Amino acid sequence: MQIVVLSDIHANMEALEAVLSHASGWDELWFLGDAVGYGPDPEGCVERLAALEPAVWLAGNHDHAALGIIDTSEFNPEARRAAEWTREQLGERSRERLSAARPRVELPEHSITLVHGSPRQPIREYILNAAGAAENFEHFATERCLFGHTHVPIVYLQAVDGVLRIGMEPGIPVALEPESRYLINPGSVGQPRDGDPRAAYLRFDLQACEVTLHRVAYPIEATQTKILAAELPPRLAARLEYGW
Ligand code: ZN
Repeated sequence: MQIVVLSDIHANMEALEAVLSHASGWDELWFLGDAVGYGPDPEGCVERLAALEPAVWLAGNHDHAALGIIDTSEFNPEARRAAEWTREQLGERSRERLSAARPRVELPEHSITLVHGSPRQPIREYILNAAGAAENFEHFATERCLFGHTHVPIVYLQAVDGVLRIGMEPGIPVALEPESRYLINPGSVGQPRDGDPRAAYLRFDLQACEVTLHRVAYPIEATQTKILAAELPPRLAARLEYGW
């Protein structure tokens, strides 16, 4: 069974389309949250995602901010401005779709837990390093957990003597040991933050028990032009080309 895992689309339609055409076929699509926020196409991205009928659709902190479920006082000023703008853009249908997204999903048949932030705090917590991963291994019971939110692709393995950090090279499968426990981040479709501006997504082959990161170039200038035309903060356009 081939799974395509997407996270943190952030209303970036050009990045989403590039990823979808690169990924082409899959058995199921799993989405780890933050369909909107930062980017210029919230309505379009929610509708596009809905049309794909993801088997898993999680809520992220920016989705909740756009719905008014969480307040944006802890966001930086640019993220806050984008959240307010996004709130004005979303139609009733998109609001309903985002409201239906869940904070945490467990798939016992695959021994997989899925969250946006962390198993401990599914919406808000960032797993930024091995220490954060180590604490979070105590907060889910399955062998693997997929998470997003940091916009940085990474694999953490729970080993006997601590948590190992395993980097992923695009296009090179990482084999998952059976019986071992992993926290896995597919990176961000619409706003990568690991210094590589290309859109990121993950292919998870459940039978072969391996994950493969993919990076896809997309027309960043087109997204930047839309961000500026919408009078969103210019830094949100600039950061896309640095992958930060
Ligand atoms: Zn995000």
